[in-house]
Amino acid sequence: MIRRSARRMTRQRKIVLEELRKVTSHPTADQLHQMVRRRLPGINIATVYRNLEILTDEGEVMKLDVAGTQRRFDGNALNHYHIRCSRCGRVDDVHMDVVDSLEEAAAKACAYTVLSHTVEFVGICPGCRDGN
Ligand SMILES: [Zn+2]
Ligand SMILES: [Zn+2]
Repeated sequence: MIRRSARRMTRQRKIVLEELRKVTSHPTADQLHQMVRRRLPGINIATVYRNLEILTDEGEVMKLDVAGTQRRFDGNALNHYHIRCSRCGRVDDVHMDVVDSLEEAAAKACAYTVLSHTVEFVGICPGCRDGN
């Protein structure tokens, strides 16, 4: 992801970004709205969405299209891998190196120019496994 030189950021957008970067839970826009409202009580969900779209375009945040759940957002826009719990839908980062050779292998296996890749592992989170 390319970080473009920062356009002047509104205060609202700055707070949306700050709140998103405080957590590693990959919140949905609804969840982020609840967090942002503690600092900006009047902000509505449409404004949060709009700011998330702009921040995504600017390469500041990443949109996660994880299977079977609401779209989630990630304050870390550098490529990294995720794991999703198939029971509760929780999404966590997987702290491992990004495998660049996957893109070379894919480029050899198809006629595309490969630009990037995403990895989503699926599993059972500790809470679901040990909890109930
Ligand atoms: Zn779970
Ligand atoms: Zn992440």
